[in-house]
Amino acid sequence: MSEHLQIANLTFEVRRSSRRRTLGLTVDRYGELLVHAPDNASTDELQKWTQKKLTWVYRKLVVKESYTARIQPPAFVTGERFNYLGRSYPLRLVTQLSQPLSFDGTKFCLRREARPQATRYFKQWYSETGRGWLADRVKRLARRTTTNDFDIEVRDLGFRWGSCGKNSVLYFDWRVLQLPVRLIDYVIVHELVHLREPHHRPKFWQSVERAVPEWERRRKELDNRGAEYLVFATPRRMEPVHWKTRVKRASPEHRPISFTRTSLCATPTVRTKGD
Ligand SMILES: [Zn+2]
Repeated sequence: MSEHLQIANLTFEVRRSSRRRTLGLTVDRYGELLVHAPDNASTDELQKWTQKKLTWVYRKLVVKESYTARIQPPAFVTGERFNYLGRSYPLRLVTQLSQPLSFDGTKFCLRREARPQATRYFKQWYSETGRGWLADRVKRLARRTTTNDFDIEVRDLGFRWGSCGKNSVLYFDWRVLQLPVRLIDYVIVHELVHLREPHHRPKFWQSVERAVPEWERRRKELDNRGAEYLVFATPRRMEPVHWKTRVKRASPEHRPISFTRTSLCATPTVRTKGD
């Protein structure tokens, strides 16, 4: 069970660690609020300390909002480009087409009259095309990470890239199909490892590293540049900056590895309702 603090209209997830000596506060790229604390800190102490940081937290959230306000949804006009597996393809509006949306490997074609529902058709296209592609890719990467059985589903996950759900079902957001394969691989491996490690503790990251040695570089790229590939995005995901300010620095030898990571996804044990 995760521990939460409710202060003003904000919910903070509390992450405790025996190695931690100081209190810390993170506003992650999804606007989720995390309080990092030593094992023995009292709830009262956490409450008072966090209360004092509220101005800082609100400022971070406001900056985040100003980024999300810049997002423009696609216009669905001829020449506009859409991404699939990290490559960009032009759209052409046509009058005659047997289906509302098609892709021939070099361009997307959208029937003009289907334009008002274009987002729905794209979502459908990514989900259907993506399901097959992801199933193959996951199978290949699973050899490096798990012996567990699992199923995969492609659906709308809102601001998350992926999620490891109950009954060993791995969920992927349809929007991941816009990313380059190297970044999708990281998302896949991240979720596969969650089948065995349903948390983001050091053991989890060690397993990720065994499957993708340069995972940190990919994770950083996903955080910092992932949004550049997204024509279809959810507002929260457009966050280009990875906000993480340590209010008080722990000395390096006492800094838990997990402290520098933020969640890519939400596993059943760490799910936080950020908003
Ligand atoms: Zn995760």
